[in-house]
Amino acid sequence: MASLKLQYIANILASQNPLATPEIIIHELLLDSRKFNFQNQVLFFALKGGNHNGEDYIEELYHKGLRNFVVSKLPSKKYEDGNFILVSDVKEALQNLASHIRNKFLARLIAITGSNGKTIVKEWLYQIFNSSLNIVKSPKSYNSQVGVPLSVWRIETENDLGIFEAGISQPGEMEKLEKILHPEIGIFTNIGSAHDKFFESREQKTNEKLKLFKNISCLIYCEDYELINSAVRESSIKTENQFSWSSKNPEAYFYVFSKSVNKRQTNLSANYKEGELSITLPFTDAASIENAIHCWLCCLELGYDNLWIQERFYLLQPVAMRLELKGADQNSILINDSYNSDVESLEVALDFLDQQAKSRSKVLILSDILQSSLGSAELYSQVDDLLKRHGVENWIGIGKEHLQVQNSFERIKNSFKNTDEFLQNITSLNWQNKAILIKGAREFQFEKISQALETKSHETVLEIHLSRAVDNLNYFRSKLMPNVKIMAMVKAFSYGSGSFEIASLLEFHKVDYLAVAYTDEGVELRKAGISLPIMVLNVESSSFADIIDFNLEPEIFSFQSLEGFCAVLEGREQSNYPIHLKLDTGMRRLGFQQEEIPQLIESISKKPSIKIASAFSHLAAAGDDSHLNFTKGQISEFQEMSNQLVAQLNYSIDLHILNSSGISNFPNAQFSMVRLGIGLYGISPSTEEQNSLTPISELYASVSQVKKINKGEFVGYGLSYEAPSNRKIAIISLGYADGFRRSLSNGKAMVWINSNYYPVIGKVCMDMTMIDITDSDIKEGDRVEIMGPNISVYELAEKMNTIPYEVLTGISQRVKRVYFFE
Ligand SMILES: *Cc1c(COP(=O)(O)O)cnc(C)c1O
Repeated sequence: MASLKLQYIANILASQNPLATPEIIIHELLLDSRKFNFQNQVLFFALKGGNHNGEDYIEELYHKGLRNFVVSKLPSKKYEDGNFILVSDVKEALQNLASHIRNKFLARLIAITGSNGKTIVKEWLYQIFNSSLNIVKSPKSYNSQVGVPLSVWRIETENDLGIFEAGISQPGEMEKLEKILHPEIGIFTNIGSAHDKFFESREQKTNEKLKLFKNISCLIYCEDYELINSAVRESSIKTENQFSWSSKNPEAYFYVFSKSVNKRQTNLSANYKEGELSITLPFTDAASIENAIHCWLCCLELGYDNLWIQERFYLLQPVAMRLELKGADQNSILINDSYNSDVESLEVALDFLDQQAKSRSKVLILSDILQSSLGSAELYSQVDDLLKRHGVENWIGIGKEHLQVQNSFERIKNSFKNTDEFLQNITSLNWQNKAILIKGAREFQFEKISQALETKSHETVLEIHLSRAVDNLNYFRSKLMPNVKIMAMVKAFSYGSGSFEIASLLEFHKVDYLAVAYTDEGVELRKAGISLPIMVLNVESSSFADIIDFNLEPEIFSFQSLEGFCAVLEGREQSNYPIHLKLDTGMRRLGFQQEEIPQLIESISKKPSIKIASAFSHLAAAGDDSHLNFTKGQISEFQEMSNQLVAQLNYSIDLHILNSSGISNFPNAQFSMVRLGIGLYGISPSTEEQNSLTPISELYASVSQVKKINKGEFVGYGLSYEAPSNRKIAIISLGYADGFRRSLSNGKAMVWINSNYYPVIGKVCMDMTMIDITDSDIKEGDRVEIMGPNISVYELAEKMNTIPYEVLTGISQRVKRVYFFE
């Protein structure tokens, strides 16, 4: 990581503003105030985003001890010993700093762009060169307008080579990344549909991406992508700097004329500079082959000998693109990041651990970090430093290097020679209430550790993709007026997708409120360490005590609930306890009605034990155009009722009426808060809006058995299916007790295996379902998609004669939830 004097940075950014302590050394850049970890030597860039302004966090950060800020406006308040670097545009300043560091401290740089494969190509080049060169690279996929500057900040004078990814989502962005990275060698992996919607056409997108290579001396690309090929040919990049490969065109500079796949390997042969070369790689899928050819040609152009390359290719390892979060026994959680064992990715995983651990104590299980060019003393003290910053006190080391260094680091509480020795001792360690991160090089086979610690269940899983929830949240945020708050609905186990995992994510991403249906759900969240305010929708008098004990905020919907709750508060001598008033404007569910408002005001005025936090109502048909007038009526009734209420209070309260469809359809009724539910989970009744959202959960079962049956035989209860001919069938691990309804029996539903749909036959059983797989080569253990990329929640809902809400919340608790964070 770069370490620069603050004054030096101020000079690069041409800031004239005097600094209180110009000589201090900056070790770390901070863009996201939530990631501040109480160190000084950090420089905060107060970036402005769609709906946040970094300058709003200066006060909070200052109080936590941070002193160094880059701002576009000096704060009006005086901050003693605060250092403020003043620039005209903070993002540009960050990029200028990065550009300076890159040009001054790094000789050679490979930049990679394209729609897919960027991270894999980068990681593979790293695996290939890492034992002979001192490399700096972007961690995970830090490839954006701010990710690239952060990656570049890692450059140190000792580095021989940088390998960086660059990604764009809009026109105009690549020029800026080019200025920062200024690559000599470039790889354009491919072009696909990602981010299409922000570009006029795919040609435009290709041309934009190509701007990364404006000043390139060696551009590697696959000319079989017509769009890339013609864009390169028409660009200003000199022909002698273009190095293309093809598996179709014998005239190509690098013609890959043969690919043969055997069990686990692929052999490739190519014509290169009047000769023939061959190479073997330990992968067989098309994407890996394409990625590997890019790497192969890149190595050749850098002057490496094919035999040298081959040795490295044998050792290529798969790259885990995402972190996996699972429940573990004894109230613990497990984050699996095996397959990645470098220090850069450790930091990304630790951030995720921070976000999810809450009150659990953090444990890292780490294998020896192989293939690093640093000496082990330095390497492990970098790890130790990271763990210190992330508050991880328990480090379990596995491997010979760990045995050697264990006495140098207090944090290493246990170390083992190898994974098997660890597994033999696993029960003697304490796994109660832990947040466990496991991270190990492939040969350590850490999947065995993950299997030993995770909660066991049958092979039916609901996969939940947390990054998609973040994207969906941001989509809805972009629809809100400034300062409108978000209450996220996490009732019913977050619409089926888990409770504290989603709540932790939302807390991290700073929603303002959470809402649950019942007190128990709120109590669970508090026990898991969630500290956001939580509103409880259905409060029974028997749970008033828990509400108060766990600092939850009840919805009050009747005089009876008001009196009852106040009585309990008074008994405990509580005052100003926050409550939420539910107003009924037409739904005719819980809530006070218009004519009750005067009496309500009267009652409240006599109750110092409570304070109204908000008043709200709920729309009955916000997603339905044909009831537009009804909804408008509800909104104006809410306006009237809340006006009456607000006029009588001498403090301000929040008002809210919109649910997800309401946010989309009634932008003028946002009041001061909205309640986001199904949209957060990626579902919208509008087809157009659905394109901007991604469902966060996918349901999978597995094939338990495959068998043949003869014509005339029956399948399942009630003999409702009779084979019309000889058939092959599969039994899959899912039934109505998992939420796969019995009404889906006998051809109603289809499932997806490998790349085809297969119909349900016979009646769906409690825990199993039979499907017809005649003419397929499906095997036991194959994965069965029930809901996911090929079967939408809408299709499933329609076949069950219901709505997506019911499908999602109907997936039973025994189905294991597995979380992914991309
Ligand atoms: C469930 C619920 C919501 C969220 O509705 P969505 O349609 O899922 O956005 C909002 N408000 C109340 C009172 C709810 O019960």
